[in-house]
Amino acid sequence: MNTQQSYRLSNRMSHMDNSVIRVGDKAIGGGRLAVIAGPCSVESKEQILELAKNVKECGADFLRGGAFKPRSSPYSFQGMKLEGLELLKQAGKETGLPIVTEIMSADMIGRFVEDVDVIQVGARNMQNFELLKELGKTTKPILLKRGLSATVDELLMSAEYIMSEGNSNVILCERGIRTFETYTRNTLDLSAVLAIKKLSHLPVIVDPSHAAGLWWMVEPLAKAAVAVGADGIMIEVHNDPANAKCDGQQSIKPERFKSLMDVLRKDIS
Ligand code: PEP
Ligand code: MN
Repeated sequence: MNTQQSYRLSNRMSHMDNSVIRVGDKAIGGGRLAVIAGPCSVESKEQILELAKNVKECGADFLRGGAFKPRSSPYSFQGMKLEGLELLKQAGKETGLPIVTEIMSADMIGRFVEDVDVIQVGARNMQNFELLKELGKTTKPILLKRGLSATVDELLMSAEYIMSEGNSNVILCERGIRTFETYTRNTLDLSAVLAIKKLSHLPVIVDPSHAAGLWWMVEPLAKAAVAVGADGIMIEVHNDPANAKCDGQQSIKPERFKSLMDVLRKDIS
């Protein structure tokens, strides 16, 4: 099977114009850089409310925060689960920011459809085909992250699983892939943004936080993502990275996020 047959709906051949995914009064794709920001995980009411206000003031468009966390070790913090989802929802409501959070199991789809604005499928679930098919039966925007060792073709075929069930609201995310390099957590594959844009009409965002795993690389990599034409960025922001329950080493503080946003918004407006 050639690529035009293995992914037809996500293929640019089936839709020459860039797709724009609308979420309330926000959009991903279509020219304006979309910025998703927030902590790796929701940790407490105070934490998520404070960060939500911070990132909103800095000009973020969406609030992220994990409630169900896919951790490599079962002994690591697994997220606040439903309580975390409730707090994220509250923070979204208080700030007016749409919320983005990761789903790990198809059993939660009903709840996520009700409470979440953009449902994230994490790298580890990119090829959970049953989950993708079930999400395809909804109309929610789905943020599909590239798998740790997935090719661009495989990412597009995973998008196709969602789209072939009827949901065309798919946003792709390059978040670094596993290579022989160990200095960084992953290797940010910026050429994938260009490849995806050539092959597909779907919007693509870049997550420099999970790609690098190092807070001091986040700002320059975010700028590089914008330079290659990403439609958006997703950044982990934490008010106390040293004590974060998850991914503190790759989280930037609100002050640094503000200076990044000032540069990005100035460069593109
Ligand atoms: C995340 O965004 O919180 C996350 C777990 O990312 P990834 O699936 O890319 O590792
Ligand atoms: Mn994280």
